[in-house]
Amino acid sequence: MALIRNSKLRPRILVVGGGSVGLLTAQNLLKNLGRGEATVTVVDPNPYMTYLPFLPEVAAGSIEPRHAVVPLRRNLPGAEVITAKVTSINHAEKFATIEPENDEAFELDYDHIVLASGSVARALPIPGLKENAIALKRIEEAVALRDHLLSRLADAALMEDDEERRKALTFVFVGGGFAGIELLTELEDMVRSAVAQYETLTEADVRFVLVEALGRVMPEVGEAQARWVVEHMRERGIDVYLETFLQDCTDKHVKLSNGEEFDADTIVWSAGVKANPMLIDSDLPINERGNVTVRADLRVEGDDGVVEGAWAAGDNAAVPDLSGGGVAGFCVPNAQHAVRQAPVLAANVLAALRGETEFKQYFHKTIGSVAGLGLYKGVSQMGDFEARGLLAWLMHRAYHGYAIPTMDRKVRVFGNWFLSAVLGRDAMPLADLDVPRKNFVEAANSKPAPKKEAAKA
Ligand SMILES: Cc1cc2nc3c(=O)[nH]c(=O)nc-3n(C[C@H](O)[C@H](O)[C@H](O)COP(=O)(O)OP(=O)(O)OC[C@H]3O[C@@H](n4cnc5c(N)ncnc54)[C@H](O)[C@@H]3O)c2cc1C
Repeated sequence: MALIRNSKLRPRILVVGGGSVGLLTAQNLLKNLGRGEATVTVVDPNPYMTYLPFLPEVAAGSIEPRHAVVPLRRNLPGAEVITAKVTSINHAEKFATIEPENDEAFELDYDHIVLASGSVARALPIPGLKENAIALKRIEEAVALRDHLLSRLADAALMEDDEERRKALTFVFVGGGFAGIELLTELEDMVRSAVAQYETLTEADVRFVLVEALGRVMPEVGEAQARWVVEHMRERGIDVYLETFLQDCTDKHVKLSNGEEFDADTIVWSAGVKANPMLIDSDLPINERGNVTVRADLRVEGDDGVVEGAWAAGDNAAVPDLSGGGVAGFCVPNAQHAVRQAPVLAANVLAALRGETEFKQYFHKTIGSVAGLGLYKGVSQMGDFEARGLLAWLMHRAYHGYAIPTMDRKVRVFGNWFLSAVLGRDAMPLADLDVPRKNFVEAANSKPAPKKEAAKA
């Protein structure tokens, strides 16, 4: 393993993850660091930050995939950006092991580490789940889901076998949290409008199913709003099963705890997240859920007190919620907290670097939630103010259009929305993205044209 330890000319701040927390922390650091004061190194397996709240709209084709990601190098001038995974952290000796996808792993030393590696899907040991389901945490998954659903329509339109066709057109979503409901309703909206383009398909052929273990959906909104969302989905023809578990989906045969069984070609898992499992291979303190434990000033803290030089925020951290909200006293994992924790974290790292001992505490009282439920439909809750339908949808677009980092992306997203409003929804899949050489291989394997005898003069 190549060693890049002791390679520093100046103190290094290593930011693990270039998502909401990582990108904004690095930007804040770069803005406020003095010339030559420290090197900011950001490591992420992707060369871009993904604005996750837009994934449902990317899947539905309302936002172009490239517009929902923010390029790291372009937006972090002056930082060292490494496209690779951090696979373990040895904080006692202050180095991290870094693995580029197509290169040898190496070790990089640092003075301060910022843990911003986010969360991963919390998959349960349900038979068939790992083999057959897809989640939504990456832009590639959003693109694949869209192409998969739309291709299923195209395939089903030619199927004569009723059972096969039913399976192709049954879409199961497990998990009725914010992300799961947004994804399901956005895709249902897209699929229903796409069905109209097929002469051999009707809306009645398509079945969308929501499976939720709790007795309600969307814990982020109040009871009344959550009940309305369920009624709204049922009015749209979506089968909503509450207090129901997915028990088995071996070979895409779905078995539910309410006794129902059916085949479904599409199973989407949105039943929660857990902290990045990479943290388990570090010597930093984590709680029983795998989150790094931090104080309200975002310094990592273990049983023996503050761990000097280690900081964490966002989905991979258990950040105390000083506003009194949150779950069990901790901030819930969402972008609203992540983007507000980042500047506090950057200011505190800077203070520590300069030998100061006073740190800012993170405090944020949640401003509410906005969700899109397909074109022109939404739900929102801002304190006691509750909105449904078009108004909530406009609030959702206005908030997230403003919240995506960088002016470049804001303009592209709003531009996209404007063009779609004028030109209509684009419900067309791109085929074979995962096998781009398919056509060339077919061409190379095709028979040569039979030789004809040269015409006699
Ligand atoms: C579909 C969906 C919809 C959502 N909608 C909303 C919403 O409407 N409102 C809201 O407030 N929140 C929403 N959220 C949640 C919100 O996006 C997250 O809480 C927020 O992005 C957390 O920020 P983060 O920086 O902690 O993690 P992330 O933004 O996920 O960033 C983590 C980064 O770490 C990188 N990484 C992972 N492993 C490694 C490794 N080993 N080494 C280095 N880097 C690594 C990842 O590539 C990623 O770039 C949604 C989430 C999803 C999935």
